[in-house]
Amino acid sequence: MDECIFCKIVNGEVPVNKIYENDNFISFPDANQVVEGHSLVIPKKHFETTLELPSTLGVELLDCIKKTAMKLMEEYKAEGFNIVNNNFEVAGQVVKHAHYHILPRKKGDKVKPLY
Ligand code: AMP
Ligand code: ZN
Repeated sequence: MDECIFCKIVNGEVPVNKIYENDNFISFPDANQVVEGHSLVIPKKHFETTLELPSTLGVELLDCIKKTAMKLMEEYKAEGFNIVNNNFEVAGQVVKHAHYHILPRKKGDKVKPLY
């Protein structure tokens, strides 16, 4: 996975400000902030979509999502958050390394509901 930008982040080739990390996941700010604090949770190993991610990693994934969301809510004084996971191109996936967007939410922000 030499050309995968998220693999480069995991191996340190592309520096990021880590928000949280456990054995199999890390989180860091998204380069294009849809809303203040917009961040990504990614597995350290390369899996293309959630379908490839071993179910045994579910506990650690949820741990990383929850710890990241709690830190972001505190830092940005947010009252809630969204978790967004695009799978395959038709659903809006651009980076082919599974990832979970965390969007801290405040009343009156400009995020449009998906449905
Ligand atoms: P998706 O459309 O779900 O595949 O989203 C991919 C996300 O990765 C986008 O929101 C990008 O802004 C983000 N992204 C791409 N490259 C980087 C990077 N080097 N550092 C942080 N976020 C990135
Ligand atoms: Zn990768």
